[in-house]
Amino acid sequence: MWWLRALWAVVALTHCSAMDRNKEMALKLMKETPLIDGHNDLPWQMRKQFNNQLSKVDLNTIQTTHTNIPKIKEGHLAAQFWSAYVPCDTQHKDAVRQTLEQIDIIHRMCDAYPETFMFATSSQDIMDAFIMNKTASLIGVEGGHSIDSSLGILRIMYQLGVRYLTLTHSCNTPWVDNWKVDTGSEPPVHNGLSQFGIQVVKEMNRLGMLIDLAHVSEKVMNQVLDLSKAPIIFSHSSAYSLCQHKRNVPDAVLKRVRDKAGIVMVNFYNDYVTCSQTANLSQVADHFDHIRKVAGHTIIGFGSDFDGVRRLPTGLEDVSKFPDLVAELLRRGWNDTEIRGALGENMLRVLKEVERVRDSLIKDPPDDVPIPYEQVENACRTSYGYVTLENSANSASRSRLVLALATLLSCFFWVPSHSC
Ligand SMILES: [Zn+2]
Repeated sequence: MWWLRALWAVVALTHCSAMDRNKEMALKLMKETPLIDGHNDLPWQMRKQFNNQLSKVDLNTIQTTHTNIPKIKEGHLAAQFWSAYVPCDTQHKDAVRQTLEQIDIIHRMCDAYPETFMFATSSQDIMDAFIMNKTASLIGVEGGHSIDSSLGILRIMYQLGVRYLTLTHSCNTPWVDNWKVDTGSEPPVHNGLSQFGIQVVKEMNRLGMLIDLAHVSEKVMNQVLDLSKAPIIFSHSSAYSLCQHKRNVPDAVLKRVRDKAGIVMVNFYNDYVTCSQTANLSQVADHFDHIRKVAGHTIIGFGSDFDGVRRLPTGLEDVSKFPDLVAELLRRGWNDTEIRGALGENMLRVLKEVERVRDSLIKDPPDDVPIPYEQVENACRTSYGYVTLENSANSASRSRLVLALATLLSCFFWVPSHSC
């Protein structure tokens, strides 16, 4: 029937033009407000695929990653927290070296592509890069194991430009429990944060480093929300109510993040979006809607996890697709203020507040109390600085003596280095 076909064509045309209008509006908003993404693992892909030999890569043409320069331009990615991630099995071994190498490659990426990237460490830098039409490139270290239980390493990493530390990855450190203790697959070691973990949080406030609670146990989320003087972030986590994965954020915590004026940057990984291997763009938008409903639009951001995950939603396959997600939020009735907040204004507010807290603590001295040696001792660690004449008779030093003897014996009988 000709009239039925004509009617269908009109309906389809109307639908398409509404979609085009939303996309147009999305692109307009993204030209006016910087899109800040909380987590991208391109640096890890550089290690995995090229052993960090950036000279062997062309970021203009690479097709084996979710991120390349044309996709960044198409996606209007204004600012990125690049992840300096190294796996948990580096803990107590070469985590610090490997993390420094990841920080180095982020610096080198910025140097190699100066027309595209601008190295950034502050809220002002993000706005400056946006005006210059470049992608502000910030560093987030993913996992407390990367500082090897050292406030000195934390401070040096800040000096190298690191602006967030995810307190754990998927392993406990000697001072904080990770999300897996909530699944029962790992035992809690510290019942949240240890005393040294509290020191780390306070030192991050003093430095002006964002505290990232993606990957920590729920107990730690609440402890840090109690403790931190500055707002906290979840750099790449979604809503637990929609997908009961312990990497996601429960409603009660979402409300506490709102009360502390923090931010939850929504992760696109299928397994955290739908708790299954498949997902689509609309289901990611459901997480945005849910967080807005529970805690308001002021705590929402984007935390894609591109290049760090194996499965991504249909319609959100790579960095170029951000505008499609923004268009979907517009289709769902998000207003301009809410969209601008999610794009970047919420994150800028958090970063500015963290910087303000840092400035208010400028007179506080650096914390120079090290973690107790017995909490980190192992065969690959020396105890320089810990052993003193005064305490040489106490039991702690006796245990160090035993450790030293064991190390000596292992030299005689050659214990292979992988025991570290
Ligand atoms: Zn992660």
